[in-house]
Amino acid sequence: ERLYSVKRWGGGYFEVGPNGNLHVTPDPSNTEMRIDIQDVIDEIKEEGIQFPVVVRFHDILRSQVAQLNKAFRHNIQESGFQGKYMGVYPVKVNQMREVVEEIVEAGEEYNYGLEAGSKAELLAVLAYNVNEDSLTILNGYKDEEFMRLALLGRKLGRKIIVVVEKFSELISLVKIAKELKIDPMIGLRSKMTVKGRGKWESSGGDRAKFGLTIAEIINAARYLQENDMIHCLNLLHFHIGSQLTDIRSVKEAVAEGAQIYAEMYRMGFKLDYIDVGGGLGIDYDGSQSTSESSRNYTMQEYVADVVYGIKEVCDLEKVPHPNLVSESGRAITAHHSCVITQIVGEIKANNAEFDTSPEDDEHVLVRNMRELISALAEGGSLQEVFNDASQYKEQALSAFKLRVVSLNELAKIETLYWQIMSELHERMADEDFIPEEMQELDYALSSQYLCNFSVFQSAADTWAIDQVLPVIPLQRMNERPTVNVSLVDITCDSDGKIDQFVCESGISDVIPMHKLKKNQDYFIGMFLTGAYQDVMGDMHNLFGRLNEVHIYSYDDDPQDFYIEEIVKGSSVNDVLSIMQYHPPTMAQQVKRLIDKKVSKGEIKPREGVKWTDFYENCLDGYTYLK
Ligand code: PLP
Repeated sequence: ERLYSVKRWGGGYFEVGPNGNLHVTPDPSNTEMRIDIQDVIDEIKEEGIQFPVVVRFHDILRSQVAQLNKAFRHNIQESGFQGKYMGVYPVKVNQMREVVEEIVEAGEEYNYGLEAGSKAELLAVLAYNVNEDSLTILNGYKDEEFMRLALLGRKLGRKIIVVVEKFSELISLVKIAKELKIDPMIGLRSKMTVKGRGKWESSGGDRAKFGLTIAEIINAARYLQENDMIHCLNLLHFHIGSQLTDIRSVKEAVAEGAQIYAEMYRMGFKLDYIDVGGGLGIDYDGSQSTSESSRNYTMQEYVADVVYGIKEVCDLEKVPHPNLVSESGRAITAHHSCVITQIVGEIKANNAEFDTSPEDDEHVLVRNMRELISALAEGGSLQEVFNDASQYKEQALSAFKLRVVSLNELAKIETLYWQIMSELHERMADEDFIPEEMQELDYALSSQYLCNFSVFQSAADTWAIDQVLPVIPLQRMNERPTVNVSLVDITCDSDGKIDQFVCESGISDVIPMHKLKKNQDYFIGMFLTGAYQDVMGDMHNLFGRLNEVHIYSYDDDPQDFYIEEIVKGSSVNDVLSIMQYHPPTMAQQVKRLIDKKVSKGEIKPREGVKWTDFYENCLDGYTYLK
């Protein structure tokens, strides 16, 4: 448990059970609810679903929606805040229909709405956010069609707010609204001087891609006034970046945003809502710190800082409290899904067996290297042996290029070198002080476990922006792990690897795992993939979308669960078609080639039929290893 810091990043949903398997508590308010992940794996196998699989715990989604809304309600009530909380879920964080539907349903009692940032998302949101009491917030750059769709929403009775990102959008919105004679609801996004801290800090500051300057905000309000539409101005929006690591950024942004709201109010521009955007972070590495993969606050603290921060400014400036909107996506979805896959092989570091016995006229470097083995056995200094071995290896490579050392001799030198390094590594375990260059042996000697998945499809941010996602074995966690490994995926790309792991002491480039046993599956899980990872993946090497199972708990039997839905991942046919291939034509072509060989007598007719069927079945099959 401690080794993998499960409790620290698990958000109350995950822990290691006494049997060494991962246990999931999808609704922490009901601690009786407990699912053994092994039972989920068994059920997936029973259903004949191939791994890798995305497992979605829908109860976790519901629980996160409830926690966020309850936190706002609690703080609003406790502080005597006059406004209401009208949160929205930004669908870009995970647009899967089932995810959006679940969030809308779980949020109904709180009038929790949706946010869209593109035309396609707006079309989805128009169809799915049907609660007239909840908000729909529209961010991102917009064309005329986008505005018309927003006005269709108004016609349908929705509280749909177009957030203006640049001044020209306002001109276009006013023109279309007048033409259609529909009153829009309008928000203005402010460029903030406060910058977030973390990977997404460029969302704030003068060079931010989105938003209006203070001068533009005032001009926008005046423009609406001149056009008799000031009553349509409803909301002030800001967003200083996702995954805010330091609570100070939240406090500063809230204070700045509230000040703008208050000043606007005093200028006669009375807004109903302040929208604080996203940014509520996730503690991916369990460190509760300002590291890029963590945050130094909880959801409860974040909410309290938003509510109390805005209240304080409004009270000081003697303006009414606005309604509050937040657009938390990561915090709502990250925990609910994980990727489960098996280890399908081990790539051992430099353990090739090679005969290194002495020969009469062998090169002196081979002899020198062999003598280091004896020096080690006789208790020689570890550092000295390490230095000498590294030097001999380097010299051997140069000598090989000059044709002074033969290929056979080079192989001997390398084999002896790695034997020495393994021995050094073992002895290092008893040393108090390990020199820096020798510490790297841990990584250099670690095996790579080959995982049946694609980093590019299932964990794009680990590749793109070094995002840390927790990875753990799903079983045998009550057994001492005996090997340190890094993980590689099955794409033909050396970037397809994971070498940052959450461990007891922080982040490590290797993870302790168990030795693989013959004929026994070894499953691992990659967690907190529900935000962005689920939907941002690409089809590198034509590895497509994963099979998915949606898990629900039974209310009357909290230890049990059921798979409510299976969503089939991409078949080879699907991914090839996206790339403009025509699989039926390909099948015909291969059949024709096989038939030709059959007619020449090079393949027997029965065998030809088998090969044809085999090719067609592979086209219908899953893109991952069987
Ligand atoms: N709102 C806006 C405007 C965003 O750009 C983003 C993401 O960056 C979000 C909301 C969601 O942020 P988060 O996932 O940090 O909650």
